[in-house]
Amino acid sequence: MDPWGKIGHLTKSEIRDLQNRKLQQFINQYLYPFSPYYRRLFDQNKIKPGSIRTVADLRQIPFCSKKDFIDPDRPDKIKDFIQQPDLKTIRQFWPKTQLLKLKWQSLTKGDEFVKVNLEKEFRPCFITFTTGTTNMPVSFLYTSHDIQNLHVSGHRMLKLTGMQSSDHVVNMFPYAPHLAFWQVVFGGLEASTLILSTGGGKMMGTEGNIRALLKMKPSVLLGVPSYIYHVLRAAKEQGVKLETIKKVILGASRVSTAFKVRLAELLASMGAKDVCVFGTYGFTEARSAWAECPTPNDISSGYHLYPDKEIFEVIDPKTGEVKGEGEDGELVYSSIDSRGSSVLRYRTGDYVKGGITYEPCKYSGLTVPRINYDITRISDVKDYQASKVKGCLVDFNNFSSCLSEFTDIEEWQIELNKKDNDPFEVDQMVVYLSARPGCQEAALADTVRSRLAATTEVTPNEVKFIPFAEMIKRLGLETENKERRIVDKRPKE
Ligand SMILES: [Zn+2]
Repeated sequence: MDPWGKIGHLTKSEIRDLQNRKLQQFINQYLYPFSPYYRRLFDQNKIKPGSIRTVADLRQIPFCSKKDFIDPDRPDKIKDFIQQPDLKTIRQFWPKTQLLKLKWQSLTKGDEFVKVNLEKEFRPCFITFTTGTTNMPVSFLYTSHDIQNLHVSGHRMLKLTGMQSSDHVVNMFPYAPHLAFWQVVFGGLEASTLILSTGGGKMMGTEGNIRALLKMKPSVLLGVPSYIYHVLRAAKEQGVKLETIKKVILGASRVSTAFKVRLAELLASMGAKDVCVFGTYGFTEARSAWAECPTPNDISSGYHLYPDKEIFEVIDPKTGEVKGEGEDGELVYSSIDSRGSSVLRYRTGDYVKGGITYEPCKYSGLTVPRINYDITRISDVKDYQASKVKGCLVDFNNFSSCLSEFTDIEEWQIELNKKDNDPFEVDQMVVYLSARPGCQEAALADTVRSRLAATTEVTPNEVKFIPFAEMIKRLGLETENKERRIVDKRPKE
């Protein structure tokens, strides 16, 4: 039984005690003994595992980031992050009480019983990959212990949104070895809730997803924001009514409150009144996701964390200095209850404005720490940064928030290319738009041009209007796992 009821209402000092205790145990009995990467890191930096006693002591340990997973000369470097125990290290590092328990079990239940249990704890049996559009995919392995944690986090997330076991759910996350799809599947199993996982657009097409909605009459809908929006709009065009929908839970991509409000309006026009739209935050390396609790759609509660499973720090991305409660900075993640691929002080590349709060949530009453909703990916910017746009370092999240504020824009895509396709020539930026029928295109183009210039410091060379069907194809909404929102066609020098 998941102790969430208790964990969710601990005081701040109880949370700290719990995290200190779990951190000590995790480092001394699991990470240092069994992880080749961390054994080496601790030894090279002369860190005694026993010296990490509190969350504050984490500061002794160097950060890791995506670049530590990849080494062109050693393609399997990521394996060093997997816990790899053997009998010798178990005997050496586990406390006497735990070893006696193993011995007692083998005497009373047999060696096979002990072996099966250890395998369940430590042998990887499941994989998801990082998705990134430009990064090399990196694999993260789960043991049965981690899969159980995936059940727990999925269940906590669904519970947090107020979902009931009797709800009918349609899961439109793309079927792939990616966290989002499986987080929902395992969470649903744990909650004993009826879920139809369509696999998203690639598996069933828009028509198939609309049929799934008609068949299931779901009260809860989950998926990637742009795809959910696409399916609902297509359903509306066909005159489909969706009166049963009460909640939409979005993941795998950042959502603004403006987007939530717009989605709820769309659903209201299809008969679903007072729909609550939720954002979630999660990433492959944590093998977990966190959710908002119910609020009006123009407000975010922040993402509710699981203090018994992980520790989050917020740091200054330049100096690495740990920031205080509520301060802006990069999110750094440490697991304290994982097996398989395990990371400590992992720099997420996600920048959070408003940081982490430990104040009780005024919407759900939970006392767990919460990450503010305003998260942008530093890593995405870095990927494009190698060749800035027109010499400006551009945060592509700003394009997204800027363009999604125009109610006349149905969909958009930005294409970057070089003048005359010459790698040495200047950058050019073309904005493709699909506008609502009846809107004044020339006036809209002018406003988009000036608004983009003001928010991103880059003025588009051209704003082109294209039919909606062509836009859907360009974005790959029905064929790709991640929509092609920014297309970089600039040839390399
Ligand atoms: Zn809350």
